[in-house]
Amino acid sequence: MRPFKYTSAPDAAAAVQAVSANPSAKFLAGGTNLVDLMKEYVERPDEVVDVSRLKLDQIRSTSGGVSIGALAKNSDTANHPQIRKDYPLMSMAIYAGASAQLRNMATNGGNLMQRTRCQYFYDIAMPCNKREPGSGCGALEGINRIHAIFGWSDKCVATYPGDMANALYALDAVVRVRKPDGQERSIPVQEFHRLPGDTPEKDNNLQHGELIVAIDIPKNNFADRSYYLKVRDRASYAFALVAVAAALEMRGNTIERARVVLGSVAHKPWRSAEAEAALVGKPATEATFRAAAEAALAGAKPLEHNKYKVELGKRAVALALQRAMTGGAGTKTGVSE
Ligand SMILES: Cc1cc2nc3c(=O)[nH]c(=O)nc-3n(C[C@H](O)[C@H](O)[C@H](O)COP(=O)(O)OP(=O)(O)OC[C@H]3O[C@@H](n4cnc5c(N)ncnc54)[C@H](O)[C@@H]3O)c2cc1C
Ligand code: SF4
Repeated sequence: MRPFKYTSAPDAAAAVQAVSANPSAKFLAGGTNLVDLMKEYVERPDEVVDVSRLKLDQIRSTSGGVSIGALAKNSDTANHPQIRKDYPLMSMAIYAGASAQLRNMATNGGNLMQRTRCQYFYDIAMPCNKREPGSGCGALEGINRIHAIFGWSDKCVATYPGDMANALYALDAVVRVRKPDGQERSIPVQEFHRLPGDTPEKDNNLQHGELIVAIDIPKNNFADRSYYLKVRDRASYAFALVAVAAALEMRGNTIERARVVLGSVAHKPWRSAEAEAALVGKPATEATFRAAAEAALAGAKPLEHNKYKVELGKRAVALALQRAMTGGAGTKTGVSE
């Protein structure tokens, strides 16, 4: 491992100051992604600033909904009584990720910031525009089975691999960030991650030195009808090939509001306005769900090895909606297919 400086920040202000003063510095939270990447020489910070002891781990009820600390552990978040009761989609999505041991270490801020699982990104012998801008994209003409079918560019076809963020996109969350000048800014989660375009080295719209302090989720009426479906190569401890966060709000037999977010199909969670439009105002029938699934995948542009994701995506959307309608997240704590 390369030598690096380690400091432990006493408070958020000191952490932000330390990282913003050094262009090569990184925050260290649970370390479950950053340390792996450092061991593989993919990330090479010359300083890590440990934020794991900052008092940013509370989960508290607010007048508008719930505020979740950036340093709350994934497992504490998924198990929290208010999250389970009012935002069960969040619990399901978190439980679907990683393993119990990892969820006990992983923080919510780190989870949002986790990097792609593209194999070429991890292999420093291969070209990768995300790791080394300008070096090329190994996956574009290589083995791209796990890669994007939406929103990719000829510079990068990677996906964002996480689960929790798919639920946050469905629930209109807002990410609160502390800036180097000591002020806070709020980023609607839909604007947090980026598409690759010509700058795939940038995963998201955080500026260097900005620290995520909390994630706020507004109140909603989705708790009784939401579902997180994760399809992967094996039943646990694997990243999604396709995931769907689905949520419905009914008025009588008619769908009043709908959320459909696909995971592991793009460089960011992919909220499908087309699927949602196909649902709103319609009865909650299998035919409606199939039409929404067709609409969700209609614009997909698969690569050579991931054409299967289009049909898989359609089936996953239709099934997630059906399960959401029959009580989904209200009765279960996690799911994989
Ligand atoms: C084997 C394995 C399987 C996994 N499977 C899944 C899965 O199925 N689904 C899933 O969603 N995830 C999965 N993960 C990823 C795991 O959830 C993430 O590694 C974890 O959430 C990262 O959180 P952390 O606190 O450990 O972050 P760290 O590793 O400490 O940090 C990750 C990045 O976030 C930055 N960062 C951390 N906190 C902040 C903050 N507050 N503000 C700004 N930047 C910050 C760091 O600088 C770093 O760049 C898996 C990981 C492993 C190792
Ligand atoms: S898809 Fe993106 S992360 Fe993967 S090799 Fe290409 S540039 Fe790198």
